[in-house]
Order: sequence, then structure tokens, then C-alpha cells
Amino acid sequence: MLAWQDPVTYIHGLTAQQRRVLKALEVETVGDLLSILPRRYDDYSNLVKIAELPIGEPVTLKVKIKTLNKMPTFRRRIVIIRGVLEDETGSISVTWFNQPWMLEQLKSGDEIYVSGAARRHPRFGLGFSSPLWEPATTETLAAGNIAPVYPLIGQVTQKTLRKIMKAAVEDLNVVEDVMPPKVVEEQNLPSLLEALRLVHRPSSQEDAERGRRRFVFDEVLFYQLALRLARNLADHGGAPQIKFDEKFAKKFVAGLPFELTADQKRAAWATFQDMSQGRPMRRLVQGDVGSGKTVVAAFCAAMVYRSDLSTAFMAPTDILAKQHALTLQRFFKPYNIPILLITSSTRYVVEGGEEVKLTVKEAKERLSRGRVVAIGTHALLEREQYPADLALAIVDEQHRFGVAQREALTVLERPDAVVPHLLSMTATPIPRSLALTLMGDLEVSVIRTKPAGRLPIMTKTLVGEAGRELAYRAMKDAIKRGEQAFIVCPLIDPSDKLGSKSVEEELRRLRIGPLKDVKLLSLHGKMSAAEKDQAMNDFKEGKADVLIATTVVEVGVDIPNATIMLIESAERFGLAQLHQLRGRIGRSDKRCTCFLVATDEDANLSRLKVLERSNDGFVIAEEDLKIRGSGNVLGYEQSGRGIFKYARPEDVAVMAQARDVASQILKEDPLLQSNDKLRERAEFIRNTAHGE
Ligand code: ADP
Ligand code: MG
Repeated sequence: MLAWQDPVTYIHGLTAQQRRVLKALEVETVGDLLSILPRRYDDYSNLVKIAELPIGEPVTLKVKIKTLNKMPTFRRRIVIIRGVLEDETGSISVTWFNQPWMLEQLKSGDEIYVSGAARRHPRFGLGFSSPLWEPATTETLAAGNIAPVYPLIGQVTQKTLRKIMKAAVEDLNVVEDVMPPKVVEEQNLPSLLEALRLVHRPSSQEDAERGRRRFVFDEVLFYQLALRLARNLADHGGAPQIKFDEKFAKKFVAGLPFELTADQKRAAWATFQDMSQGRPMRRLVQGDVGSGKTVVAAFCAAMVYRSDLSTAFMAPTDILAKQHALTLQRFFKPYNIPILLITSSTRYVVEGGEEVKLTVKEAKERLSRGRVVAIGTHALLEREQYPADLALAIVDEQHRFGVAQREALTVLERPDAVVPHLLSMTATPIPRSLALTLMGDLEVSVIRTKPAGRLPIMTKTLVGEAGRELAYRAMKDAIKRGEQAFIVCPLIDPSDKLGSKSVEEELRRLRIGPLKDVKLLSLHGKMSAAEKDQAMNDFKEGKADVLIATTVVEVGVDIPNATIMLIESAERFGLAQLHQLRGRIGRSDKRCTCFLVATDEDANLSRLKVLERSNDGFVIAEEDLKIRGSGNVLGYEQSGRGIFKYARPEDVAVMAQARDVASQILKEDPLLQSNDKLRERAEFIRNTAHGE
């Protein structure tokens, strides 16, 4: 007898070691534990032999370790373990990265199961790169022969997790299901209890899949309810009406230093249309880096000002907020539109052609008077210090999916209960197959064509030290021409979350060696906002030739003079993220090159080569989705906590099913007033989605 809400310690027959494991996993209830679903299942009845090993298909092999050795690498923090595995039909190579403990756990002669997809390597022949493995002596604990493979957390073994899960799910008999029974029946879903048994103790792959789909359905349904409930609540409040001033629009367009692209015009006009209705707009502008989203935002803010109302323009960092303030000043100059910049380090107002520095109190006071375009970081919104006449909130550079989702869930209500329009801008192209599910009924504008006259960024995949040398040479040539370069370092050491060690180590290495005569500057997450600003400004002003940084530079800072980017250990980044990163260069008519330096040939180079072929963020996002699955696209890997725990891109059918059911439920009960459990769940999702 075990209930979903019971503490995990109630699970029958736990050993002291298992209790420690559970504590380390930070799971408190039986429900928390059983919510960790298997990533996949190993079918041990269908083992493959080396002689018949297919390439590129996930398989499981039972093999003996012939050799296993640590390889010398020049970078201290990277550990490569290479070995040979054999069975009676042949042998294959294997490589593990950054798992030094493997050498303590395994030795030659040991029998193990390895699971993964084999690849052919130019130097080492057929083999596996970082496959999952498990001692072959382990009782596989599989019902039938289907063994759940759980996501491994810390150093907990599959064996331990399987044992605990088995004990828990076999004893479980009380689960509260908030899904209306009518839905469960009509959609032909297994009950929650049955679904749990199916996923944790399946007797076939089909069973496991049927169970998993129940979790996907629930997850997407509740998420859709949360999104649509937010939408309905916003509609309930109504929105300020912005009149479309055509004469002004024409003048604004004519006064710009460049011709707007057709996509930019379409995005702006769609926004004007939305804002002229009494219904709060929720529009997402998707446009690749450098596609020119800022001017669209500026145009919309100007239009709001023509209606005598305020705009809050929010950027993710101080640096970007300042950059936007300068850009908007240029665009707004002929029209005397007041701009108020509020960041932690700088506050000023530009009004009547004059720039006046402000104290914190003065800035607040000016903000509350309204009729202004206020620019700041997201704190502007969070501290709820926006003006009473706020009509438009613009949120820029949300290229993390998670953040864009949260906005879709936001109802930013003014004191008078009116809900301002929301314009969100992202550089992450969202594949169509996912957009509907992720965004609910958020309107989407796409800026696909880049401003004319841009040269595409040349991208080159290089390997190891030899490749790096080539990149340094190109870098020095560019510096001679008076141009600048970025070097991006990955976070290598897990303890180095902010990248300070990686960056400092790289700085030291370059300073005494390859870039000895070059002026270097560093930027990483451990620096204070003021220090980061300083470094960025210094770089912008040309005080250094090369900026060595973590992915902090990923966000939209505009440094047109930077023409080279070198990304170290490029194989560690997702394609979409690499694309974001290289978007920091290519912001002028100068020829730009991005070097992706892979650690060694074992890195999946063909994946990186997608970036050599394409400069189109949408193409890249689709590729990323295909290669890596939803993990990266949905933001799991980047934020560590995704929107969806269970849904994968291939679940489109279940997603659509859940969306339809959500629409149906809300059609009958738009604010879920007669369905407390569903409303509580939707509200829970909205609330938890806000804090990060
Ligand atoms: P992002 O979409 O990445 O935010 P920005 O708005 O920063 O891009 O624009 C990148 C650069 O392109 C800026 O220097 C901007 O002035 C310029 N730009 C924007 N639109 C056009 C256009 N239609 N023609 C020429 N240059 C443009
Ligand atoms: Mg931008």
C-alpha cells in the first residue's frame, strides 16, 4: 500500500544505500520518484553481435572489454578514454569523454552491455562514442525482457534505480488523477495508475509507449490549459486601443536610415493591426540574428506614443538595454519621442532634444508620469514599476524557449485591470511542428529575409590544434586590418558554472602562446554587471583586439567591427546555439568568418557541418530538432529545466489531441470556474513557470 503523496522512505524494503540515493536525488514523494520516466527501454532479448552491427541505429551489445586507456590531451580538463570491445564475432572501438571514473569502474576482461548507435570513424574504424553501459553481471530486472533505462542522475546506477522504481510501482495503489474521467474514457487513455505500471514495468515496447503517451497527453493538455487560461484572462481585462496613424507611419519609414524589408513592414503592420483592437495583443516576432527586429519594435513604440501612451522595452541585459536606448534615440530624433533608460548602473531621460542623467528616485518619478518609451532590463517588468498608462510591453531577445513560454503565460495587468499589448522578439526559429503547442494561440510574425547587402558568414569546421592554428592566423590577419575577434569557450568543468575558470585558463594559455602580441580581454559570468559592461564597452571602443568569453556574448550585442569568431569545443553546443553565437559577427558589410573548432575527430563533425552549409536559422533549428531531438529545442539542455518533461517532437499527434481537448474544455468553461482541479493545475503551471 503506497500512495502518490507518501514520502519515498515509505517504499518497502529500501536499503540504507538506497535511502541515501533517494536523498541525493532530492525526490521527496513516491510521486516525485515515479515521475522520473525511463528515457528508453533496452530489449535484452534482441542483442546484436558485433559482426552484424548496423551503423547509426540504436542497439545493445554484450561485449568484453579488451583494452581501456586514458588518452593524453593537451587540455587538462578534458578526459578521453578509449578502448576496444569484443565479442566472439569481432571487435569495435569505444570512446568516452569526461568520465574519468570509468577507469575505476571498468577494467579489461569485464563483461558489459553497451547501448548506443555505432559510427564509422576515419581512424578508429567502427565504434561507439560515449555509449550507455551497464555491467553484464547485473540482474537486468526487466519484466519480460524490456528493461527501462532511466536518465542517470549523479552516480546512481541503473541497477539501483530499477530496483527502487520496481518496489515503488508494485506497491502503489493510490494516485489522484485530476483529469476528468470523461476525458480519460473518450480519449481512450490508460488510468494514471495503469500508465505508471506500463512505463516502469512494461511487458512490451508498445505497452511502454502507450503508458508514456498518457504522460505526454497530460503534460501538453495542462500546459495548453495554462496558456489559454492566461489568454482568456487577458481578454477579460481588455487592452488599450492604439490608433493607426498612417501619416506618421509613412513619415517614420521615410525617415529611417535604411529601407525596411518587406518582412519588417509586415511584422510592424500586423502589430499595428493587433494593437488597434480592444483585445490584448500577444505577438511573437521571430527573426534570425541581425534580421532587424529592433527597428520594428521602435516603430511600434513610436506608434504607441502617437496615442499618448507608454511603452516598456525590456532587454535581457544592461548592455543590451543601453544599446537599444542609443538605437531608439537615432530613430526617434526627428519626432521628439521621450526615451527613458533605467538600468542598475545608468539612468537618463532624453526629452526635448536634451539628455538628462537621473537618480533612481527621479527615474521612477519620470516613469510614473507616463507618455514615455522606457527601456530597461526585465526588472522593469518584474518590479511592477511600469507606468499606469503602459500600453505596450516589448520583450527582446528571448532566444531561450523557456522564457518565451513564460511570456505567453503572463497576464501583465495594470492597476486599472487593463492588459497591455505584448510584443516578444526572439532569434530562435521555432519549427512549425512545435510552434502551436509551445505558443498556444500567440500570433507569430517571421522576419526571414535579411537586410540587403549582408555578406553571409563563412563558417569553417576545424579539428584540434592544427585547426586552431589556422584560425589564429586568420585572426591575426583580421587584427592587422583593424578588425576584432571573439573567442568563445565552453564550460568544461561542472564546478565552473559561470565559466570564469575556462575563460581565465584560455586567457593565460593564449597570452603566453598563440596570441602573445595581441590585446586580449575576457568576459564571463562571474563578473559583476558593471564589470561586464566595462569589458563590453572597452571591446566596442576597440581597446582590445580579441574578446575571450563564455556564451555571455550570445545575446544581441552589436559590434560591427568584430569579423572573426572562434568557438572552442564546438561539439558541445547545440546547432541553434552555435548559430546564435556566430550571429555576433556578420553585422556589417565586412567579410566575416566563424571557426568551429572541435576537440578531436571523434566529435560529430557532420553535425557541425550543417552550419557550414546554411545561414538560415530555420533550417538549422529543423536540423537540430532532427539530430538532437526536442531536448535542445525545448530548452532542456540550455536551462536544465524544460517546458516539457515528457513530450518529444515526434509526439505531434498526441500534442494535437491534447490541444483539441484543451480547446473543448475551455469552450465550455473559459475560465475553468467549474473545474477546480484543472484550474489549480493550470494556475500552478503559470506560477511555477515564472520563477527561474
Ligand atoms: P536583431 O534582429 O538581431 O535584433 P538588429 O535589430 O540589431 O537585429 O539589426 C541588426 C543591424 O541591421 C542593425 O545595425 C540595424 O540598424 C540594421 N538594419 C535593420 N534593418 C535594416 C534594413 N532594413 N536595412 C539595412 N539595415 C538594417
Ligand atoms: Mg536584437
